[in-house]
Amino acid sequence: MADGAVLETRRGGCVRSVGGTVSFSASGGHLPNEVLAQAIRELSEWRGTGQGVLELPFTGPAFKDLQAGAMSSLRALLRLPEGYRVLFMQGGASTQFSLVPMNLLRGKETASYTDTGYWSKRAIAEALRYCRIELLPPHGLPATPGTAYLHVTSNETADGWQYREFPDTGGLPLVADMTSDFLTRPIDVSRFGLIYASAQKNIGVAGLTVVIVREDLLGGAHMLTPSAFDYRMQAQSDSLYNTPPVFAVHVAGLVFAWLLAQGGLESMQAAARRKSLCLYDVIDRSDGFYRCQVAPEARSCVSVCFRLAGTALTRAFLGEAESEGFLHLAGHSRVGGIRASLYNAVSEEAATALAEFMQDFANRRG
Ligand SMILES: *Cc1c(COP(=O)(O)O)cnc(C)c1O
Repeated sequence: MADGAVLETRRGGCVRSVGGTVSFSASGGHLPNEVLAQAIRELSEWRGTGQGVLELPFTGPAFKDLQAGAMSSLRALLRLPEGYRVLFMQGGASTQFSLVPMNLLRGKETASYTDTGYWSKRAIAEALRYCRIELLPPHGLPATPGTAYLHVTSNETADGWQYREFPDTGGLPLVADMTSDFLTRPIDVSRFGLIYASAQKNIGVAGLTVVIVREDLLGGAHMLTPSAFDYRMQAQSDSLYNTPPVFAVHVAGLVFAWLLAQGGLESMQAAARRKSLCLYDVIDRSDGFYRCQVAPEARSCVSVCFRLAGTALTRAFLGEAESEGFLHLAGHSRVGGIRASLYNAVSEEAATALAEFMQDFANRRG
């Protein structure tokens, strides 16, 4: 396959001038162009082995090296402290909604959750099958003594709400669903007991779920937990308990290396701030033409959600945006409105071009 053709249609630089498209999708695996080109090349030939990456047996040294390389790049990106294990799992973040209580209740009957939007509600609904839930406001502590952990959703993908500062839990393990803002900013991992993120938002392609867990929380999974979903089992087998999602692990390794080469998470944070601010700026100066319902101090740097007055205007916006090459801007189906997801692979040029389009649309229709 000609890499050039792929790069040509995807170049997000100046959307209109090259006639390309940019996806602002919340869920599609959006890859940096260089990573996509390398992943395509290595599908047929992996580093002089004469084999494609999908042909590597997961039990052999080549795949073990590949996986170890990906994990060590991730450790470097996060400056992971001692005492934490990186697990590569499957099932997506939605499966973690169950695996967290199955692994971390350890005989307790209550867990604490904050409800900050759509995804925390989904996590709570699933956890209710395993335990009682104590609901806390976003920064409201302390939790009742005897609760097993506090679960938070770092970025509410559907609602555009993001934690700036995480709650201080004292000794209680803090668990975070970071699926939509993982690797978009530096985090102090030592404050968390467990972090999880499925890959298709900022890491690469669907099929892989990254779990970072403090070693003292391993062990004590409920006896009915499937072995492949027992954190201790996966830690003991170096995440090779059963066949891993080889291609997703490979792409993740390429993305981690790309992030390191871009200057790491500080650079990603600065870029996410600039990208989101240029959109919020148009919204705030539009005299109510665009409305963002999230308070400024909690606005997400990666999921910019806003509304226009009425469905007809919203449809017109989405239609014109699409014909200009700005794809998948419709809000989450439960929330409506507009949403621009600004994951790491969305370029600053693409965000600027979208801001210009929004300004132009407001000038014409406002
Ligand atoms: C997308 C998303 C999920 C769901 O992820 P799956 O891998 O599809 O299960 C969960 N939590 C958050 C915050 C998300 O953005």
